[in-house]
Amino acid sequence: METRDGSQSSGDEDCLFCKMANNQTDAEILLSDNELVCFRDSKPGARHHYLVIPRTHVGNCKTLQKDHIPLVEQMEEMGRRILEKNKVSNLDDIRMGFHLPPFSSVPHLHLHVLAPASQMNTRSLTRYGPQSYWFITVDKVLQQLRTHSKVK
Ligand SMILES: [Zn+2]
Ligand SMILES: [Zn+2]
Repeated sequence: METRDGSQSSGDEDCLFCKMANNQTDAEILLSDNELVCFRDSKPGARHHYLVIPRTHVGNCKTLQKDHIPLVEQMEEMGRRILEKNKVSNLDDIRMGFHLPPFSSVPHLHLHVLAPASQMNTRSLTRYGPQSYWFITVDKVLQQLRTHSKVK
């Protein structure tokens, strides 16, 4: 199905997350399906910190459109699944969302999934907390896509 010469590649050849999705790195893939891949964040900001990415290269959350709603919903679902799999019982005490540009570590859309949110340190709160200017929750993204067809 996939070719090694990159003709199927829809993203940057050097994109780290494209490589991870294609299993070209040592990263342990925790969950995957036809569209999505989940692995651990290499610099965890909470006891549990996972990333869910689409296999196809999608840019940051500002490039999302209405058509992406099902994809984002699936990413959220996989985020919940990885937390449940790792015995996170309080799914109200979590943070799930995206970086807002220009702050973005890797320019391939990735959902950050963190738990427990109440035990995140200051550095982590600055990046992923409710007060962060650089972070938007998946709920807000979906809401904005439904009402404005894009993320403001
Ligand atoms: Zn990519
Ligand atoms: Zn990130």
